[in-house]
Parts: sequence; structure tokens; C-alpha cells
Amino acid sequence: MSAFKSYDVVIIGSGPAGSLCGIECRKKGLSVLCIEKDEFPRFHIGESLTGNAGQIIRDLGLADEMNAAGFPDKPGVNVIGSLSKNEFFIPILAPTWQVRRSDFDNMLKRKALEYGVEYQQGLVKDVIKHEGKVVGAIYKADGMEHQVRSKVLVDASGQNTFLSRKGIAGKREIEFFSQQIASFAHYTGVERDLPPFSTNTTILYSKQYHWSWIIPISPDTDSLGIVIPKDLYYKECKNPDDAIEWGMENISPEIRRRFQNAERVGESQSMADFSYRIEPFVGDGWLCIGDAHRFLDPIFSYGVSFAMKEGIRAADAIKQAIDGNDWKTPFYAYRDWSNGGQQIAADLIRYFWIYPIFFGYQMQNPDLRDEVIRLLGGCCFDCEGWKAPTIFRNAIEEYDRKQMVG
Ligand code: FAD
Repeated sequence: MSAFKSYDVVIIGSGPAGSLCGIECRKKGLSVLCIEKDEFPRFHIGESLTGNAGQIIRDLGLADEMNAAGFPDKPGVNVIGSLSKNEFFIPILAPTWQVRRSDFDNMLKRKALEYGVEYQQGLVKDVIKHEGKVVGAIYKADGMEHQVRSKVLVDASGQNTFLSRKGIAGKREIEFFSQQIASFAHYTGVERDLPPFSTNTTILYSKQYHWSWIIPISPDTDSLGIVIPKDLYYKECKNPDDAIEWGMENISPEIRRRFQNAERVGESQSMADFSYRIEPFVGDGWLCIGDAHRFLDPIFSYGVSFAMKEGIRAADAIKQAIDGNDWKTPFYAYRDWSNGGQQIAADLIRYFWIYPIFFGYQMQNPDLRDEVIRLLGGCCFDCEGWKAPTIFRNAIEEYDRKQMVG
């Protein structure tokens, strides 16, 4: 008899990707252990949710709890261009919320526990392999090392990209959007738009990769983020407060106006190198979901909804792999589905950064408007046969061709 505990699925990390994957695996009758290093609730960035994320939350039966927690409704996103001259509004078609991630992630974790996901607070330190196949993990908890066996080890460790660091998944490759540093903090006393738009996400940009977010995360608290290129940060700023000050001064006067009577709550923080992709991200007895294999650019708030969608979709692949004892076909299908949706989102974001004003016009184009709004709502994985993704792809290929020639 084995001395180790054994589960169908062991998940590293209980962010949105890990919790959703755990819940879906339990729905399919699989045994699940989730190992999380941090004590919850814990701070996390990523506070504005897409309509697709809202739908997943309602499907979990959490809408009343979200409202009771005081998470504001998100009517849409207001994108304000350089010197406030260009502006467009992206409505949200499916109701959704802005969240304080510490409370939101804790809510998802409680839901996973209700479904029978077992939890262990601990730091996963290594994988266990047998004849080349990943068959478990080694984690540290209560000052001791423990082993656990799995049929599938799921990396949902977010930006820690655990399996990549262990050399199981591929290396982190830099994405187009990678040369940015985000600095952020929470504030009270921020001047908001008038209802019903007072809880919109506001995006302000000046030029490529110089932008800011304002997200109301509770009735009285707003999140402010300033994102600027790395070289500018290192030249002009010594710390996150300097970067926030630089953004207020240089990105848009609208930020200063809204924050003139605001007071910071807690520390400000900075984050760098958050955009990357990892290939391969599936293999014999393991796969990666959410930020553990890819993160694009936070501008359109895709992170949490993609993490949750991948958690759900990966559970299908895991069930098929275990039932059919086939470690290739279902995992490759998950990989291709993920790459397809992520590519469409990456194209949309690149198109915005190359042609920001024209992007605003496309929002008004009656032929494309509906598709663009849905893509911005997170439908990048469910848009087969749509026109807009091909138009954006062609425009980017044309731009890249010209750059190469020029
Ligand atoms: P995470 O939420 O990061 O969860 C990973 C978990 O794994 C953590 O709890 C961690 O403690 C745990 N873990 C890590 N390593 C180990 C280990 N070895 N052992 C045990 N546990 C471990 N997304 C949005 O939807 N909206 C936004 O407005 C938004 N804004 C963003 C702004 C910035 C600047 C950035 C960088 C990202 C933003 N995102 C946003 C993206 C969002 O934060 C992530 O995409 C999302 O949190 C990914 O979820 P996840 O479950 O994959 O990973």
C-alpha cells in the first residue's frame, strides 16, 4: 500500500483558475487536492471583470453573495485618449462586477470547498516523476516536506509559473506587451462619474503603453494603476509612488482631477515582467491554466475570465484523459483551444495599441461593433466564423510586414 495520499487531480494555487478547475473536476466526480501557499484572504491585483466572468460567477450561484459583499456593478469601460480628445465607451452586455480580489478569491475558494475540493496550505516545491511522467508533487507545510500523488498535476500558480521554473513546462517567452511596469494602490475619496456610470472602469492613455486604470472596487474605494514602459520607469521613478505621481502629471489631467481629494489606503506596489507565454504548457500527467502559462496585457481586463475559462475547459480535458487513459488527445485539444482564444485577444490588444483612434472608430462601425463588444466581453474563445478577428489579424500582419520592409 502506498504511504502517500493520492488524488485524481492536484492543483497548485487557488486563484480563479485553480478554484474553477477544482470545482469542475469535482462536478465530474474526480478527487481534488488544491495546495495554496498563501493564507487567504490575500491581496491580488486584477479587479475589473468581463461580462464572461460575470456569467461564470452567476452560473456558480454567487450573484447574491457578490452583491452582498458590496462589489460594484460594472456598466462598462470608458476609454479616454490622449489629452482627453478621443473617447469611446464599451458597454458590458452580460452583467458583471468590479471586485476586491482578496474577498473575491476567498469566495471562490469557499465555493470550491463546498464542492468537495480538499485544501492544504503549503508551498509546492517540486514535482514527482516516474518513468518520465509527472505523478505528484512535493510541498512544504507545517515546517515539513510532504508528498502527494496525482493522476494529473495542474499548475494554477499564476505569475509564479511553477512548472516552467521546474523545467517541466517550456521557458517564459516575452510577449509584445512585456516592457511595462504597473504601479498601483487603493484610494478613498475619488471623484466618480455620475450614476449610472459611477462604477465604470476608466482607462486613460497618452501614447503606446502609457496608460492608467481607475476601478471602483467597493462603495468607497477605487483602484488606481499607472502602467508605463520599463525604461521610463527606471529613468524617472524610484518607487511606485513616483510612478503614480508621474502618471497623474503626464498621462491625463483627468486623473489628477479625480484624485485631488483622494486618500491612499495601504501601500502602493509595482509589478514588472507580467506579459509572457510558455510553450509547451501540457504534457504527460500535467497541464497549466491561467497565468501559469500566459498573460497578455491587462488593458482589457481579460485575466480573471481567461483563468476561470481555462480552469473549466481543462477539467473536461482531465476527465477525458483519465477515463480514456489518453494523455495526448484531450490535452492537445485543450492547448489548441487555449492558444486560439489567447491569440484573438492578443490581436485585439495589439490592434488597439497600434491604432488606438481607429479602434474607437471600429466600435462605431455597425458591421463590427457587436462582435468587438463581445470580444471585449471575453468571447475570444467562442467566436468561430466572426469577421472582426480576421480583420484585426490581417491589419496586424500588414503592419508587421511594413515594419519589416521599413
Ligand atoms: P493567480 O490569481 O495569481 O493565483 C495563483 C495562486 O497560486 C496564488 O494564490 C499563489 O499564492 C499560488 N501559488 C503560486 N505558487 C505556488 C506554489 N509554489 N505553491 C502553492 N501555491 C502557489 N485581470 C482581470 O481580470 N482584470 C483586471 O483588471 C486585471 N488587472 C491586472 C493588472 C495588472 C497590472 C496585472 C499584472 C494583471 C491584471 N489582471 C487583471 C490579471 C489577473 O490578475 C490574473 O490574470 C489572474 O489573477 C490569474 O488568475 P490565476 O488563478 O491564473 O493566478
